[in-house]
Amino acid sequence: MKSEKVVVCGAGGFIGGHLVGDLLRRGFADIRAVDLKPFSDWFQRFPEAENKQLDLQSREACEKALQDAHTVYNLAADMGGMGFIEHNKALCMLSVMINTHLLLAARKFGVSRFFFASSACVYAADKQTSPEVVPLKESDAYPAMPEDGYGWEKLFSERMCRHFREDFGLQTRVARYHNVYGPHGTYDGGREKAPAAISRKVIQAKLSGNHTIEIWGDGKQTRSFMYIDDCLKGTQAIMQSDILEPINLGSSELVTINGLVDIVEEIAGIKLKRIYNLKAPKGVNGRNSDNTLIRHYLGWEPSTRLRDGMERTYRWIYDQIVKK
Ligand code: NAD
Repeated sequence: MKSEKVVVCGAGGFIGGHLVGDLLRRGFADIRAVDLKPFSDWFQRFPEAENKQLDLQSREACEKALQDAHTVYNLAADMGGMGFIEHNKALCMLSVMINTHLLLAARKFGVSRFFFASSACVYAADKQTSPEVVPLKESDAYPAMPEDGYGWEKLFSERMCRHFREDFGLQTRVARYHNVYGPHGTYDGGREKAPAAISRKVIQAKLSGNHTIEIWGDGKQTRSFMYIDDCLKGTQAIMQSDILEPINLGSSELVTINGLVDIVEEIAGIKLKRIYNLKAPKGVNGRNSDNTLIRHYLGWEPSTRLRDGMERTYRWIYDQIVKK
């Protein structure tokens, strides 16, 4: 199968860039990497791949992208951390055009496997009101009350994948990612997520000598964060599996935002005065991934310790900031 054409959509982004690199390392020889952004803005770009700049919201572009494709990973979406998705609901929902047009093109060209990157934001808000979380299991997505905007788009697109499989026989696979982090991602500009944002703030405090940090919310909200290597392994395992329903792909190592700041401070060798911005977007109060199903199907779950992944992420962001 390694000689068949694999198309990675959203390849200029964080996870897509890593996926192209990983596929090449694993011997996949025919990779098409597609993203909306100009090449200079891609986080990673590999000359061995066929790189294309296309706006996948258009059906015509999706047909260009998927011509001769055997396998398709859809990681393209207009997205970001809480700061972005709370203020850009229409833009988030417009990603529905990407997945819908990609599915239509995949059907037209007889694609063998199609992967969609969904999100823990599909889960009902009323199941995430307390920091003392009960981990979210896949069935908790219904009755539906997902994150407004971004979460609704993900839930709708999940169902499109399901119905394309049931009605047209297209082999779709869906993973619900829980907060992915690592090097080669967004760390400033408004789309960054907590691990990168906190790393950047700690680095800036360290370099400037202003030893304060602003934290969004009261810092008591809980989350789990999955290191990129686990995301890549899980994504490809789910793609190759017979898991037909959307499945959690996330770490179950729960941490408060304050705990995450502790980890980054320890890596940086610094202690900062914390200023809590209670008006900033902070998302749900608590969220964790129930990994019973992925353990059952794959005999595996994401296991990189947060401390280890954050060390690598911090070092990369530090290098980017001092290089500027
Ligand atoms: P990212 O923003 O780094 O990458 C997404 C890429 O999609 C970007 O490079 C963007 O330019 C591209 N894109 C957007 N609109 C496009 C269009 N019209 N045509 C072509 N390309 C377009 O995000 P990421 O963190 O790599 O996330 C990848 C996927 O995983 C997304 O679908 C995201 O919703 C999902 N996801 C990510 C996380 C996470 O924590 N990173 C969590 C849950 C789900």
